[in-house]
Amino acid sequence: MTNADVAVVTGANQGIGREVARLLAAEGMTVHLGARDRERGRAAARDLSADGADVRFVPLDVTDQSQVDAVARQLGEEHGRIDVLINNAGTGGSRPAVEETTADDFEAVMDVNLLGAVRMTHALLPLLRKAEHPRVVNVTSGRGSFAVNADPERMESRLEGLVYPVSKTALNMLTYQYARALPGFLINAVDPGFTATALNGHTGTSTPEQSATTIVRLALSVRGPSGRLFDSTGEIGW
Ligand code: NAP
Repeated sequence: MTNADVAVVTGANQGIGREVARLLAAEGMTVHLGARDRERGRAAARDLSADGADVRFVPLDVTDQSQVDAVARQLGEEHGRIDVLINNAGTGGSRPAVEETTADDFEAVMDVNLLGAVRMTHALLPLLRKAEHPRVVNVTSGRGSFAVNADPERMESRLEGLVYPVSKTALNMLTYQYARALPGFLINAVDPGFTATALNGHTGTSTPEQSATTIVRLALSVRGPSGRLFDSTGEIGW
């Protein structure tokens, strides 16, 4: 058992998730770093624990219900509660052109970006309910926002593609509906912005640390809001 807040971050062996894990641990939380690759997950947790931070690897492929259930069981036994869940794991998929996209192209991406968040949230709900201020942050994308896509000033308005943006729009609605259904929980979505990570061949313009900051701010906020979408500038439209 620990008195420190307990956090779980999915897809945290690299990129934005790893930075979120590092920053939450720097706030004194006990952080469970989820990764589907055991070696890379263990290595990341070891590196992040170097300065006495409490970062613990958990094997976690969010498309594997048995692994999700195992994490819920383990954290129930270790802590009896979870304060913070960061649904960060995400994939861009193969990104075929719009006219070439088939239903099959959606399956693998939805399985991670949407259903992964459902599996995690559903499995951890009983432990989140035990927290004084349960917080869930879903890492979405401006590409999934109608408001951002409709803004000619935003680069997302000029990008094409079906699968990734649709998966993030679905994640946005998931966030909104969970927030409505779960009073007492703080459940929000964050667009981290165009960030230099493996997802885009490290072409993004902000660093993972900069992008993680907005996610961590929401994860630390115990007084609300809930059911909203944020980026580094503040609240933005769905
Ligand atoms: P990244 O470095 O590629 O990180 C993605 C993470 O998700 C990796 O740890 C990856 O694991 C993990 N992941 C993928 N499938 C998984 C699965 N089935 N189970 C568990 N973990 C899985 O990219 P990132 O940019 O940091 O992405 C983090 C989040 O930010 C994603 O949700 C992404 O959509 C979102 N986002 C990123 C940008 C950007 O510009 N980078 C912009 C908007 C939103 P592996 O290392 O094993 O592949």
